[in-house]
Amino acid sequence: MVSMKDYIVALDLHGTLLDEQWKISATQTRELIHLMKSLEGYASFYVCTGNDYDFVEKHLPADILALIDGLVLESGCILYEKRVKTYQVEDKALASAKDLHSFFTGQSYPFVRYFGKREATVSLFTSDDKRQKPPADYVEVIKKDFSKTAYADDFYVTWSNVAIDIIPKDISKWSLINKIKNSACVIAFMDSYNDKEICEFSDFAILPKNTTDSLIHHLRWNNKLVFPLHKFHIFSNQCYISQKPFADAVIEGLLALKESLFNR
Ligand SMILES: [Mg+2]
Repeated sequence: MVSMKDYIVALDLHGTLLDEQWKISATQTRELIHLMKSLEGYASFYVCTGNDYDFVEKHLPADILALIDGLVLESGCILYEKRVKTYQVEDKALASAKDLHSFFTGQSYPFVRYFGKREATVSLFTSDDKRQKPPADYVEVIKKDFSKTAYADDFYVTWSNVAIDIIPKDISKWSLINKIKNSACVIAFMDSYNDKEICEFSDFAILPKNTTDSLIHHLRWNNKLVFPLHKFHIFSNQCYISQKPFADAVIEGLLALKESLFNR
């Protein structure tokens, strides 16, 4: 469970901490570590991703991972905290996900580059670290085929900037963060449409420059104002967008949080 810190910083991977080549530079890593350490007494850090543990460990530098308090994996289906893995879905959902995975791997979609290794969701990657094919372009095909399966009422289809994900109903990055946050204030750093719940319901959403338009439209449609990040204020729970992409936006946001906290 979350310690008695005031803030939870929820960090997305693809498109937020990681750039188009799924990388974070040495300079960004250094700056992030410095900021995370300086916020240690105030904030818990959670990586929130559609991916599994192996992906996080492979792509996130070990020095950053060491400062992370917990991992929200497979879009909220699994919590990994203090080396303990907790499933947030019933065994039935795991069995259904397995069935769905078999169904979709049998379809031979030309636009799917590979399937992510998953236990509770299905993840169809249209992009990899070299070629970017926007999942949004193909989501209707997947939705149509998914609607014909026996699981259409138990799962839903969403997409990030790299993959189309099929996720158990009522599960999202937000459903898990909301469950563990206690009274902490949540600051979500996110970029894609699959992050719409956590961006909408967190106290703050901080979006990198590369944030997908569909996420910004969703937030505006739900009466959220999106301010430039340089206007960040700790007493003003809002959405903010950076002029910088990927991890540079995270660095800018954490710096703004630190300055706000220390200059109160
Ligand atoms: Mg993302």
